[in-house]
Amino acid sequence: MAERKAAKYLKRIHDELYQVYGDCVCPLKHESGFQLLAAVMLSAQCRDDRVNQVTEKLFAAAPDAVSMAALPEELLEEIIQPCGLHKAKSRHLKAAAQMILACFGGDVPQTMEELVRLPGIGRKSANVILGNVFGIPGFPVDTHVKRLLNRLGVVASSDPEKIEKTVNGLIAPAYWTNFSHLLIQHGRQVCHAGKAACGACVLNEICPKKGVK
Ligand code: SF4
Repeated sequence: MAERKAAKYLKRIHDELYQVYGDCVCPLKHESGFQLLAAVMLSAQCRDDRVNQVTEKLFAAAPDAVSMAALPEELLEEIIQPCGLHKAKSRHLKAAAQMILACFGGDVPQTMEELVRLPGIGRKSANVILGNVFGIPGFPVDTHVKRLLNRLGVVASSDPEKIEKTVNGLIAPAYWTNFSHLLIQHGRQVCHAGKAACGACVLNEICPKKGVK
């Protein structure tokens, strides 16, 4: 019963946000699974608009796994430097490209188990790739998703894997990918990390505002 109530509540949250934001598209520009994988990797602690500026230059030099694996590391570091953490990111990106060539026949793998074997790819990134490239439902939990679902009282946890599992158990797979986008949009535009704009929020009436001062 409690679970049925929680599922109903989560669906209501989804529906209210869907009314505002509708079907969302991945904000990271890409023309292939490999390019989204690279963009997601660069997006760690970096804004999407900056990632898109950098990937425009990066994909001109190395649009696929073959060219990325062959790109000199110094040049790669120089190109992705504006995204921050450029040394680790370039190391991971090059190693992931090499592994895709060596272990997956040059194609980005299509399962969670295989994707998280790639350097620099965790469950969040893997879910972004599965949902946005392959149409395989996944619920990426980033900092916005985590904050909103805690404030809304859906979860009381900072563990992304636990949050993902909770949501997966409460709402049908067909909603997962877009629901994550909806929460991210709402986190960026209304339920800010600093000061939540509850007065302007479509969820104001139903949200318990847990932890909101
Ligand atoms: S009511 Fe406030 S705390 Fe709740 S989701 Fe909206 S902005 Fe966030």
